[in-house]
Amino acid sequence: MKPLKDLLKKQQRQNQYRRRDILESAQSTHVKIDGKTYLSFCSNDYLGLANDPRIIEASISALKQTGVGSGAAHLITGHSYFHHQLEELLAERTNRSRALLYSTGYMANVGAITALCEKGDLVIEDKLNHASLIDAGLNSGAAFKRYKHSDMQALETILARSDEKNKLIVTDGVFSMDGDMAPLPAIMSLAKKYDADVYVDDAHGFGVLGHTGGGICEQFSLNSDDQPILMGTLGKALGVAGAFVAGSEELIEWLIQKSRMYIYTTAMPPALAAASVKSLQIIQKESYRREHLAELINYFRMEVQKTGLSLMPSQTPIQPIIVGDEKTALEWSASLKKSGLLVKAIRPPTVPKGTSRLRITFSAAHSKDDVTKLVNNLAQLA
Ligand SMILES: *Cc1c(COP(=O)(O)O)cnc(C)c1O
Repeated sequence: MKPLKDLLKKQQRQNQYRRRDILESAQSTHVKIDGKTYLSFCSNDYLGLANDPRIIEASISALKQTGVGSGAAHLITGHSYFHHQLEELLAERTNRSRALLYSTGYMANVGAITALCEKGDLVIEDKLNHASLIDAGLNSGAAFKRYKHSDMQALETILARSDEKNKLIVTDGVFSMDGDMAPLPAIMSLAKKYDADVYVDDAHGFGVLGHTGGGICEQFSLNSDDQPILMGTLGKALGVAGAFVAGSEELIEWLIQKSRMYIYTTAMPPALAAASVKSLQIIQKESYRREHLAELINYFRMEVQKTGLSLMPSQTPIQPIIVGDEKTALEWSASLKKSGLLVKAIRPPTVPKGTSRLRITFSAAHSKDDVTKLVNNLAQLA
């Protein structure tokens, strides 16, 4: 066994030690920790749906019909009517022939990419891709190359030099720690030029981007014969849990045959699938949630500029403030917490060394006053 005690001490010395808060309330803009209520800017509940009474009601009603556990993997007897209904709705909503549910986004990424790529193939990834995409590429057995963040020249150089027949370009749609969007139209056209496929992880875009919440592809108005393989999660904007991969008929059938993270695991509770169906219906109808969120983001960016703090080029609900070293990031986060605001410090290895940051995320459930309070407190730190 490794000397865990020493290694943990080292982690502490480097200000990289991680601790968990214990939430004593529902996920919301205001959360209770240790008996105290905080105004929180840390969740991925972008549309304020994690605690929506209509979604709670839909899951309770499904729970009464299906029981709690699915009891089996999808290929045995775990694939319920509710799972199937959700897959059909996801396919429709993403303009794809089919969609396939996974229990988590992490599993979807590793499960899909390892089923699609193997030794002799090439996986090409943006350097700032989510850890699950990096693990997927590394575990696939394919040659693995990474390009400088959103650098299309660097991507083209890799494509031009490759002699692998099957090439998969893999990217976050919205980068989870920076909040910027991948230059998807440029990636699609390079893929076409070099006969590569594209896989987009739209965990932070699905439900949020595009005028109906269709995500990154809708945001860029990609036409229907120019669509990447799409992965989305159900635990962020949808406020539930789980994930999906959407694409062609053959893609989904292949994943059902070969994707180990799909085959060898218990299906998510059917009631959660029912909850996601309800959430998708709400997301499509209630566009005011996206509009309010966009207003909050604009307002925040305008106000922060007056404080002298610098922003990242992000138009999404992820608005990081780069602080630099781990210690300062922790101090800023602690100081905000003292004032009743919850904003987490994100440190290496989650982000590159020297770019420790406060990762601020907004929800449609925030008010303008909430944002003003945040900016006033940030101004004091600056
Ligand atoms: C959150 C996230 C995932 C993982 O999804 P889970 O459902 O939480 O496992 C994958 N990719 C990106 C970009 C994410 O932000």
